Amino acid sequence: MKRVLITGGAGFLGSHLCDRFIKEGFYVIAMDNLITGDLRNIEHLFKHPNFEFYHHDVSKFIHVPGELDYILHFASPASPIDYLKIPIQTLKVGSLGIHNCLGLARVKKARVIIASTSEVYGDPLVHPQTEEYWGHVNPVGPRGVYDEAKRFQEAMTMAYHTYHGLETRIVRIFNTYGPRMRLNDGRVLPAFIGQALRGEDLTIFGDGSQTRSFCFVADLVEGIYRLLLSDYAYPVNIGNPAEITIKQFAEEIIKLTGTDQKIVYKPLPKDDPKQRQPDITKAKEILGWKPKVTRAEGLAITYDYFKSLPKERLYEEANHRDFDKK
Ligand code: UDP
Repeated sequence: MKRVLITGGAGFLGSHLCDRFIKEGFYVIAMDNLITGDLRNIEHLFKHPNFEFYHHDVSKFIHVPGELDYILHFASPASPIDYLKIPIQTLKVGSLGIHNCLGLARVKKARVIIASTSEVYGDPLVHPQTEEYWGHVNPVGPRGVYDEAKRFQEAMTMAYHTYHGLETRIVRIFNTYGPRMRLNDGRVLPAFIGQALRGEDLTIFGDGSQTRSFCFVADLVEGIYRLLLSDYAYPVNIGNPAEITIKQFAEEIIKLTGTDQKIVYKPLPKDDPKQRQPDITKAKEILGWKPKVTRAEGLAITYDYFKSLPKERLYEEANHRDFDKK
């Protein structure tokens, strides 16, 4: 039985990856320090004989007994609010964390895939973004701690690939949504759906003309799975090219939820990218992958999930627990 370590395994993407690898017959070890992850995302897996959970901070030395075939590094805070609250942890997990994962991979002779991001392109001057674009990133802005950690992580991963001959894969993930996104983490979809369910106005930052392209989580997981099993070591964009403005997105959520709340406008956060759309030519050609779930289908599934949560979860604060702030 193949064994896989998934860091950030209790997070939004990590938990869906745990489900997928369990379904494919792997032995899955999920690792998470639970700063932004949530055990409720994986509690259904605890009874599974092929699943194990390590409560551990991947920025510290990682010990995993036994063999490992694959390591998926998906631990990281992933929303602008998180970057402001835990900037140093964000930098550490992308730098010390990946160093530990790569070191572990060498010892275990495992293949590593890292979660990179469209944020490596920053506020892009090339549209749509191809993997060849080097980006337009402000290293000292509020997103710098995330963007630069992810850029460093890519560089470190390539160095282990070229210098040590390690098998590595890099997925550049564009905006993704679906069940288990954290409410109140500031990202636009849980923000809008949470507001609609609480009977609050929907907050658009700026004039809402900035664009994003939203991918449903099941499509993303399929792309990651194919990339991991491929033999391509360079970065691959995975995302849904269906681009919309945030204003249109708010209108879609209003229609979906039937809320009679209105839209209110707030200042645009610093360095908020004006446009974002993946060029997925590589994923199509190399992986035979393209997204299948339309936004209407994906949003309906996601809304059903948020509606099914106990009401008090709509009012839960971000769960940044006590942790080493250094
Ligand atoms: N946004 C918004 N209202 C909110 C939360 C976010 O208008 O309540 C905007 C945000 O300014 C950005 C877009 O929605 O332009 C997507 O934000 P998110 O934080 O989800 O992701 P990212 O900016 O990293 O793509």
